[in-house]
Amino acid sequence: MTLNTPSHVLSSHDVSSLDDTLASLDLAGRLAFVAGLGGRAVFTTSLGIEDQVITAAIGTHRLPVEVATLETGRLFAETVNLIHETEERYDIAIKRFYPAQDDIDAYAEKFGLNGFYDSVEARHACCHVRKLVPLAKALDGASFWITGLRRGQSGNRATTPFAEFDAERNLIKINAIADWDIDVIKAHVLAENIPVNPLHARGYPSIGCEPCTRAIKPGEPERAGRWWWENDEKRECGLHVAEAAQASPLPAASQR
Ligand code: SF4
Repeated sequence: MTLNTPSHVLSSHDVSSLDDTLASLDLAGRLAFVAGLGGRAVFTTSLGIEDQVITAAIGTHRLPVEVATLETGRLFAETVNLIHETEERYDIAIKRFYPAQDDIDAYAEKFGLNGFYDSVEARHACCHVRKLVPLAKALDGASFWITGLRRGQSGNRATTPFAEFDAERNLIKINAIADWDIDVIKAHVLAENIPVNPLHARGYPSIGCEPCTRAIKPGEPERAGRWWWENDEKRECGLHVAEAAQASPLPAASQR
């Protein structure tokens, strides 16, 4: 397979072939293979347990993959602390991407700073300003976007492939641990002594912004604590769904 070309000229056949190849490799092998294809590979981490497994692999094997995070300004203190701890532990730099103050001001003026509780429109607008716009900056010029999406995280992630073409962003999305279940991840974290967010042990399997994340009850799905007030089984922040479906209701001048 020849795959040392930028993502925008990869065919759907190439992506399917890449998916097959990645399925046959372990995590470090998957990351090394993608890093060796040419073009920038960017891993965006939320510092969740699955993302920590990927960061550990990148740092331990000194792989040429950029590590970035979206510093939304509403993260838990525990998450912010873990960014620093992870950088020191693996001697890597995690590049922070922040929302623009003008965008936050426009959002607050239209919806109120915590307006995301009041309507789905306001919630999507906040995620757009604090996550989607910074994500676009993080992925600018990248050929590969590496994520920690897993099939076991929720029903709408059940068919997550290892490689898929992201037409909205014109790159190849690599879901490097799509097939890992949470028990395998926990065992790996213990065995490798990988630092994780202490909130996981307090009932937070999925951790996002503080005002939009709560602990789950026994038996609830992993992502039940995210935007729990919304009555929609496909609750997502928009990072992993088409941008067109998440268009910001903010004035156009504030979008960049
Ligand atoms: Fe805003 Fe909540 Fe989305 Fe964070 S998760 S960007 S606070 S709506």
